[in-house]
Amino acid sequence: MAESSGMATAVESLEEHKGLFFDIFGSFDASAVTPRLGRLRVKGRQELETPNFFAISSRGVVPHLTPDVISASTTIGGVHMALEDFIERATIGTPPIMNCPGSSPIHTFTALPRPLITLLAPRRTPAVSAPKGNSATAISIFPSTGFQVLSNKSYISYIAKLHPDIAISLADVPHGSIPGSKRVAKMGDRTQEWVTELLDSKNDEQAVFAPILPIDSLSQYEYLNQLVDELTDEISGLAFYDSNLLPDMPATTSFSRLPRLSLDEPSSPCQILRQVSLGMDIFTIPFIGFATEAGIALTFRFPRPVLDEPLVSDGVAGSVLPLGITMSSNAHAASLKPLSTACTCYTCANHHRGFVQHLLSADEMLSWTLLQIHNSHVVSEFFTSIRESIRSGNFVVHCDEFARAYESDLPEKSGQGPRVRGYHSKSEGPGELKRNKAAWGNLGNFEHGINGLIPTEPAGTLEDKGFDEKADT
Ligand SMILES: [Zn+2]
Repeated sequence: MAESSGMATAVESLEEHKGLFFDIFGSFDASAVTPRLGRLRVKGRQELETPNFFAISSRGVVPHLTPDVISASTTIGGVHMALEDFIERATIGTPPIMNCPGSSPIHTFTALPRPLITLLAPRRTPAVSAPKGNSATAISIFPSTGFQVLSNKSYISYIAKLHPDIAISLADVPHGSIPGSKRVAKMGDRTQEWVTELLDSKNDEQAVFAPILPIDSLSQYEYLNQLVDELTDEISGLAFYDSNLLPDMPATTSFSRLPRLSLDEPSSPCQILRQVSLGMDIFTIPFIGFATEAGIALTFRFPRPVLDEPLVSDGVAGSVLPLGITMSSNAHAASLKPLSTACTCYTCANHHRGFVQHLLSADEMLSWTLLQIHNSHVVSEFFTSIRESIRSGNFVVHCDEFARAYESDLPEKSGQGPRVRGYHSKSEGPGELKRNKAAWGNLGNFEHGINGLIPTEPAGTLEDKGFDEKADT
């Protein structure tokens, strides 16, 4: 890993003024679309080698992992937090997180381990579609109490109080709907205005990532131009809602040196590899949590399976391997093997497939905790191997090898999983079926009372039959 002495000097001089710095290792060509190695350094937090990922949180929690488990059993370097998860009472008073003291209220409020980087976005990833569009000054958000609006002015005041390590500026993204041409024109203008307002009012230490909208680069030409010409020194990174735009980014040196965060929701390891090949640095990966809650243990390794693992899928030698295994299957009920061959995570070091299968069958919460520890570890190792591969100059060859060894998609979900909440998933509109089975049904037929115990006759008739009169209250 070669770092030029000139760059190291530049880092030291800028650190006094900025809370965040990003180094890129190796030769750098602003116009090249290539994978790259970097290091994200945030004041007071542990360094993050890139490419790498931030865990996605829900209501301030990395699902299934307590803060002490994150510290003890994962190598997660940062957490994506959504403001909409914390301000459900904003319309009737001050949200509790806003009364949290200290220099890092998000860490304090959520008990997040101090070495982890916090990334604050207005919305969850993936975000639930809003029935109402955004306006010129505000976006629709979905706290647990229902849709409400979040103005840029309010978002800026939340950032100032919460002081996340990184804040993603508000973006006019119509989650869940495809914008028409008039709407597309507004998206760039509004986002440009919102980013400028945030940058004008933030303090020097606050790191801001500017959103890159999920529309073609020509449609946000003016916005991108302003970022490059006037705001590059003010922003600390870019947040991409569509990774396909990476090759279309303006190729100035300072703009290309900014760290790039993906909010593009890759659905498989192959999609992560593609984004890495385009020069993405940091990822948010919803499929880790989806796999855990579907009872799937991820088993892929980059660039190939471990040597003693035969290329066998469904008993057919030579065929591609699945990316994960469904742990709820009865086939694992008596298995004493770890979830994945040669995995060194806490789950695989201490437990076996049979126990996890038993926990899943019993709907025990520990099943998802053990799976989440394992799945986070598998993805951390995946990124470690990606970095080694880029460093050795074999990344393209290794990507081909990976694509030949593994299936392209994760296994289908089986089993019920933990209880799904409305804010967890994209709504499919009116008439959508309930996501959770009712825990119990009606006890008998109500027309005749519950098992005949609820009277359906007038009180007078009942008294005639010997029932007590209703007591005066
Ligand atoms: Zn494991």
